[in-house]
Amino acid sequence: MKYLTGKEEQEAAIFIDKAAKIALNSPCFRSRCGSVIVNNRDVIGQGFNSPPIGKILSQCLKDDLPKDFKSDKTCCIHAEQRAIMDALKNDPQKIIGSRLYFIRLDENGKKEKAGNPYCTICSKMALDVGLAEFVLWHEKGVCVYDTEEYNNLSFNYK
Ligand SMILES: [Zn+2]
Ligand SMILES: [Zn+2]
Repeated sequence: MKYLTGKEEQEAAIFIDKAAKIALNSPCFRSRCGSVIVNNRDVIGQGFNSPPIGKILSQCLKDDLPKDFKSDKTCCIHAEQRAIMDALKNDPQKIIGSRLYFIRLDENGKKEKAGNPYCTICSKMALDVGLAEFVLWHEKGVCVYDTEEYNNLSFNYK
């Protein structure tokens, strides 16, 4: 992982802002997230979290699941998954070597800083399609992870 500085950081901030705008479309009542996938400054995929298409949920699945339920508890397809599926439709060749930007909004629609990587669903999918890098906005700044590193960190999240 490395923190971006200077021009690189400024450029990344533009894509994080773009992801934040996309996140505003999320119909989820628990959490709104957005993601864009960029290859050479071209946005090739984008997405926000939402329940599977055709499903309208009035409460999160999480509320109905047994306490010892071990798998993903969220109501939604994750923003990163949606962006990857979008990029696969738009330009599958360009996913190879591309970079994914992720942001979560707070309840007021403002960008929220991310904690450590933890989602193995998205980290595996990113690795599988050949995404090169994953970008999160941390307290310390804009951080770029190699996708394999991101996947390893997610599996070691405690
Ligand atoms: Zn949701
Ligand atoms: Zn995820």
